[in-house]
Parts: sequence; C-alpha cells; structure tokens
Amino acid sequence: MNAPESFDAAVPAGKIMLVGIGPGSVEHMTARARSAIAEADVVVGYVTYIKLVADLLDGKEVVRKGMTEELDRAVSALDAARAGRKVALISSGDAGVYGMAGPTYEVLFQAGWTPEGDVAVEIVPGASALNSCAALVGAPLTHDFCAISLSDLLTPWPVIARRLDAVAMADFVVALYNPKSGRRTRQIVEAQRLFLRHRRADTPVAIVKSAYRRRQNVVFTTLAQMAEQDIGMLSTVLIGNSSTFVRDGLMVTPRGYANKYDMDEGGATRDGEKAGRSLSTGLNGWLEALQIDHAAGESVEQLAARHRLPIDYIRATLDEPLEAAAADLPEESEA
Ligand code: SAH
Repeated sequence: MNAPESFDAAVPAGKIMLVGIGPGSVEHMTARARSAIAEADVVVGYVTYIKLVADLLDGKEVVRKGMTEELDRAVSALDAARAGRKVALISSGDAGVYGMAGPTYEVLFQAGWTPEGDVAVEIVPGASALNSCAALVGAPLTHDFCAISLSDLLTPWPVIARRLDAVAMADFVVALYNPKSGRRTRQIVEAQRLFLRHRRADTPVAIVKSAYRRRQNVVFTTLAQMAEQDIGMLSTVLIGNSSTFVRDGLMVTPRGYANKYDMDEGGATRDGEKAGRSLSTGLNGWLEALQIDHAAGESVEQLAARHRLPIDYIRATLDEPLEAAAADLPEESEA
C-alpha cells in the first residue's frame, strides 16, 4: 500500500552535499560534482571556486566565504538543510582531505543529527592536490606515500614533527600540504631538518604551485635545497623516497618490479622469484630466513638491528611456527 504524498510533507528533505571540485579547472571536476552543484538551492564556497561553476548558478543563493569560517559555514548549512533546502559546500580537491567534511560531521553530531534523520549528507569525492600535483610531475606516488599538513593553526607542532620524523624514517613518499604561508615560514625548514636526518640530501623534491590553475608552476629540486624555493599557500611539496628518481623532467617512484624482474634482461624473472607470488623476501620467505639466521647464531637483538625492526616483534615472529606455503592457490596480480 502506498502512503499518500502528503504523508511525508512535515519532514523537509534537506540535504548537505560536500563537493570536492578537484584542483581548480573545469576539466578536472567530476560529472557528479557538477550535477550536485546544479541540484543545490544554496552554494557555499570561496570566490575562486564559485567562479569555476558560474554557469550552474542561475537562480541559486550563492554564499561567498572567506578562509576562517569553516564551523560557521557548517552551522548555516545545517540550518538551511533543516529548512528543507539542498546546500552544496564546495571544497577544492577532495572535501574529506583537509577539507569541510570533518568539521561538518562534527557540527552535525553536536547538533544531535543522525544519519537516519531529516537531513541527508552526501560527500562527492574529487581529485586531491596530491593526485593533481603527482600527475603533473610524473609518477611519484607509485609506492607507499602519505600526506602531512604543516599547518599548526589547529595541530600542535610536536604532533606534526613526530609524524614527519616517523614517515621520513619509514621511507614514505610524502605530500606536504599547507607547506608555507606569509606567517608560517619556518615549518618547511623544520620539516627539511627532520627529513635530512633520515634521507639523502639529493632526495628528489617537486614543488607544485597552483596545479591546473592559471599560475601553475612546477619546480624540481632536492631535499637539501627545498626550503630555499618559492613555496606558498597554493603549493604542494612532494618528497621522494630512497628509490625515487628524476629523469627527463619526470619524477618517478619505482613500483618494485626491479626486485622481481631483471629489467635489463628483457624482463626475465630473477632467480628465486616467481610471477604472481610474494617476493623471496616477502613475509614467508623472510620469516624462513629469520629462523635460519637465528638458528645459525644471530641473536634477536642483532636481527632486530639489521632489519631495523622492534626486538619484541622479531621475538614474537620467531616464536610462531611457519605456515606451510599455500602452493595450490591461484596467482595474484602484481598491479
Ligand atoms: N581539500 C584540498 C586540500 C585543502 S588544504 C585537497 O584535497 O586538495 C590546502 C592545501 O592544499 C594548499 O596549501 C596546498 O598545499 C594544497 N593545494 C590545494 N589545491 C592545490 C593546487 N591546485 N595546486 C597545488 N596545491 C594545492
């Protein structure tokens, strides 16, 4: 049995859409980002981003906002949605990457909102600065990477410094967001200092300013010279790992194929390696070698030092018997 239309009329179908519009060019905005904005009654965002969707704004309420009003924006979005309106909050890149998605949910929960209630929330994903900047410099993020914001407006410096130290040590490729502003100029110098403790001075660094915008600019440099470059609020800094290289103006982080295949010998599989299987130094092979080295007299402490892993981790793995290799399972893709 169908409920009459008017049955729902007391509950206005309001909606908040957190729309990531990508780096800042119309071509790199998704179809859903455009349709979500077209669907909205109210569009909220910085002037620069609003200009990009000017053709979609006819008949809508448009709220052009400044930088520091994130919580106010989330509160007014909730008020409008509770009144039955559809609100699009525009973020550059992805709304969930150093964007409005987090503060919006925080404000909503504080106001007693639940996902089952009268206000729907949709997050529309977009290409984040790290995707756009990586695309412009080559393939720097093809292995493990992370993002760190150098903004200490809401995060204590020791927290930021600890993360910089940890990822520098762990050999991640790193994308630094909010690297420098008019007032925050020393953070990038401190980041460099922490990285140089773990990485070579000639580690490749790319600084991308205004990716896919009018003043786009890409500079290749090194960790040693990074802090002297022209870096600002619209820059993202990409720091390579210990295998990243620059060739013909392209920054590339190897996927690891050279560990398994001889790239000079027409791609022949290296001795002891097998396509579709973990490396001989993958978990099982490594555990086996660990047992052998330990049985041959290498102490837990020595093994921990050599592999740069915690002593209690080495001890725990040695205590656990090896599993028989699962030889009959199908092969895996390496992509
Ligand atoms: N939500 C955004 C990030 C906002 S934080 C995203 O997902 O991309 C703002 C920082 O993002 C800037 O300081 C800069 O480091 C980076 N950024 C945003 N757009 C950029 C662009 N077009 N080119 C280079 N860096 C950009």
